[in-house]
Amino acid sequence: MGIPVRQVVSIGSYILRQHLAGRKRYPLVLMLEPLFRCNLACAGCGKIDYPDAILNKRLSVEDCLAAVDECGAPVVVLAGGEPLLHKGLPQIVAGAIARRKFVVVCTNALLLEKKIDQYRPSPYFTWSIHLDGDEEMHDRSVCQEGVYNRAVAALRLARAKGFRVTINCTFFKGADPERVAAFFDSVMGLGIDGITVSPGYAYERAPDQQHFLNRKVTKELFRDIFRRGRGGKRWAFNQSALFLDFLAGNQTYHCTPWGNPTRTVFGWQRPCYLLGEGYAATYRELMEETDWDAYGTGHYEKCADCMVHSGYEASAVLDTVQRPWKAAWTALRGVGTERPMAPEIPLGEQRPAQFVFSRNVAERLAEAGESKTRPQKH
Ligand code: SF4
Repeated sequence: MGIPVRQVVSIGSYILRQHLAGRKRYPLVLMLEPLFRCNLACAGCGKIDYPDAILNKRLSVEDCLAAVDECGAPVVVLAGGEPLLHKGLPQIVAGAIARRKFVVVCTNALLLEKKIDQYRPSPYFTWSIHLDGDEEMHDRSVCQEGVYNRAVAALRLARAKGFRVTINCTFFKGADPERVAAFFDSVMGLGIDGITVSPGYAYERAPDQQHFLNRKVTKELFRDIFRRGRGGKRWAFNQSALFLDFLAGNQTYHCTPWGNPTRTVFGWQRPCYLLGEGYAATYRELMEETDWDAYGTGHYEKCADCMVHSGYEASAVLDTVQRPWKAAWTALRGVGTERPMAPEIPLGEQRPAQFVFSRNVAERLAEAGESKTRPQKH
């Protein structure tokens, strides 16, 4: 398993405390996006094509730490955009660690060598380096040659300096299971601490929609991958065994979008990291005024094919805490790849998609113009 025991115990006791306090909804992972600007332009990304007035916006260090305090999730994932472009990132990371949060910085690693000495290794800190497969797969995914080799060099450097390092991979339609399995073998050989996987899912603004996976194809792809690695046991995943089992079609989970609340330069995003259907000014407003039951597979057309970790890892973690024997058995036995798949959630009652994104962007642009946000220099 790629999750440190300290983290498992800490998150498990946090969940138990929430249950004992009778809380119905509570956060597990804060997704914190202090900027949308990136130094790559990947085809599967729905963020980097915002107008400059939005790409130039930053959450301040104070805004970020206020979001950490407001939300209270035990894990803080810093994403974006490319978080290493944010000048205040070292202070944000240090501030969150001082609050005993498990901090993960998701990065394409292009700036890691230059900036790594601004950070210190800690059991509470992880670099999560973006690698969508081997050299050819990754460079194609990020639409630029040479990125894989730079990311791997940065990964080796971070390991040599004593940091905890994982990789995060998103797989799209057409991924070759044999090649993915060989890639997992090779990255494990680099001494990484874990792998995070997710199927590509359509951000409604992502320009390249045709390569996202639907649920049936996702489950078959992950079965084909895990089958080549003893039900996934050959690799250290940084995710719960039950989430991997879900990816392979063995669990019927409803998504838990409130488990991974997302704070961006626009505010607290409704309902999740993938869909921007409006923004709340405060975390409390997000939790209390979002109609959570209106989202998720079977409830909403845009959610029909989603199986991403930011929606379903929390569902798997809650199941793990409620049925630890089931999770332990899955971890011991490995992910099932041959048995009949669990029933799928019927889609007959889902409400139709609403397209509110352009209106949201127009509103934010108007705000950006009014506030005369000044861009940072990198
Ligand atoms: S299923 Fe859940 S995580 Fe996926 S897009 Fe819908 S609300 Fe977001």
